Amino acid sequence: MAATLEQAARALSDAKNVVAVTGAGVSEESGIPTFRGDHGIWVKYPIEEFGTIDAYLNDANRVWAFWCELSELVKDCRPNPAHYALAELEGIDRMETVITQNVDNLHQEAGSTSVIEYHGNARHLVCLQCRKRAPFDLDNRTKLAPKCVECDGLLKPDVVMFGETIPNYALFEASARAQKCDVMIVVGTSAQVFPAAELPFAAKERGAFIIECNREPTDFTRLITDAFLEGPAGETLPELVTLVKAELAI
Ligand code: NAD
Repeated sequence: MAATLEQAARALSDAKNVVAVTGAGVSEESGIPTFRGDHGIWVKYPIEEFGTIDAYLNDANRVWAFWCELSELVKDCRPNPAHYALAELEGIDRMETVITQNVDNLHQEAGSTSVIEYHGNARHLVCLQCRKRAPFDLDNRTKLAPKCVECDGLLKPDVVMFGETIPNYALFEASARAQKCDVMIVVGTSAQVFPAAELPFAAKERGAFIIECNREPTDFTRLITDAFLEGPAGETLPELVTLVKAELAI
């Protein structure tokens, strides 16, 4: 694995079908903490107590309070140059779809129009009984876990908690897109959360060129990455897009 930024830009400018897979790291420069690492959310709030569907079912009000605190933290966060760079690639016809593990809606806010939300979207709530969705009104949060206005079932943030399955559409569509792309850009993901971490491997098996943007090497870097762009994605991705535009003379 020795390809450079220039080779990555060339692969992108020659590509017919580009897909991005993003994780918590793409939103780090927007001020949203990642979940792992020394300052990760799970250090302060253990996964078993706050991140699982069982925890929600056992004590919804306690876990709801955690989600409210988290929402307060991210309420005013805005897309950063990494989100805008991916949206710009779509604008120059070099991005089919962004598959994101994030639940923060920032790719859409940056202008990406084709986004597969692998783990849901924290701006919505879903009823555990009738599955009806409702917006999560961050300015009028209830102190206790809210109930569905239609059926009085328990509402929960519309995110995939540990112990829940990935929504069918996201699972199958993301897998199909990963197998079809000829370049995949993997941004800010630790390769620890499955099945999302399988997507770059599926792309590589079908011959895709893998560009990885991360602050530090991951299992992807060691096993399948063709071009590793080390550093904050808010710096490396805009640099990459500038080079792609130069290659395409636009
Ligand atoms: P992770 O926390 O396991 O890993 C984050 C990765 O990003 C690490 O490899 C880290 O080195 C890298 N990174 C950190 N800052 C970066 C930067 N500025 N530029 C480039 N890389 C950077 O995240 P994950 O792999 O996405 O898995 C955690 C799960 O938690 C995900 O499934 C996601 O659903 C969820 N999550 C979402 C958000 C969000 O919506 N913003 C935030 C935290 C966690």
